[in-house]
Amino acid sequence: MRLGTRLSSRLRSGVFSSPLYHGSVFAQVRCFARVSTINGIIPSPPGGFVTTDIKIDMNPSFGGTYARGVFATREISFGREIMNVPAFAMYISEHKEESLREQVMIITKDVFSKLVYGTPQEKEYIKTRVMTLMSGGVSYFTREKDVFDFAEEVRPPGKEGTICNGASYLLSGEFSSYDLQKLPLIIDFNRFEVEYRGRRGMCLFTEASYFNHSCEPNVEISVNYNSVKSNFFLSARAVRPIREGEELYIHYMPGNNLPISRFALAMKRRWGFECTCVKCKSRSVGAVTVLFLVLLFPITVFIRRLLIGRSEEKHRNL
Ligand SMILES: [Zn+2]
Repeated sequence: MRLGTRLSSRLRSGVFSSPLYHGSVFAQVRCFARVSTINGIIPSPPGGFVTTDIKIDMNPSFGGTYARGVFATREISFGREIMNVPAFAMYISEHKEESLREQVMIITKDVFSKLVYGTPQEKEYIKTRVMTLMSGGVSYFTREKDVFDFAEEVRPPGKEGTICNGASYLLSGEFSSYDLQKLPLIIDFNRFEVEYRGRRGMCLFTEASYFNHSCEPNVEISVNYNSVKSNFFLSARAVRPIREGEELYIHYMPGNNLPISRFALAMKRRWGFECTCVKCKSRSVGAVTVLFLVLLFPITVFIRRLLIGRSEEKHRNL
């Protein structure tokens, strides 16, 4: 059964959490995903589906190795569901309002514990899917020691927890402390903010993170809580016919009514880029025109008066 949970804009509190520590080795480091091996058809995750009508490819208009996008492999008709995927990780607050940082760290712990004592499939998914997502912002850890302290708290339940923990996992070399340092940045960058019965939280929908943004998207997403499966599901549907080879876009801040300048600033803060779609360009050109007219009109009137005044003076002198 689907309940009326709605995706409350990916932004909402969309400002990077301020780092608790300053002057660290990691602070101010801007991280990006490694060159991704993820290309082509997106495999369906366990418990969800992604259609083969779409594939991940490089976006030539952005350029560069990191500029991935989702493209149509064949014509997609209006209303077609492109994917319906469960949250790979999610957190919904129980009572209190946790800070953004706390929520991100709770999900980080959850994902990292799947690496330490999860199934081989979960481990593979994190390494090849989650860890290749884009990230940015300021590190959540100050020193490498803090990364190890955090890892040490992650222990398998029962007897196994006494002999192995997250720190020993890091030392095994399968996953480095650098990777763990990057994990909360990835979660922060790719989180979808959700709301369920007045409780707020966030989800990680890896497959939906491949979409780029447009203010006039051809795909719309909706996030609902499935109480039977006790998880959030994201559904993406085409909101207009899409041609073969066309890129699929979603809106990163659906339903916002921000003026162009504040919208651009919010996008830049949260995702580090300014939207250059046709709508934004025409809106900013419009804003500049209005500003120009507002300034130009009084100046023209002033110059005109000045000139008239001078010519009248000339006439009087004659
Ligand atoms: Zn735009």
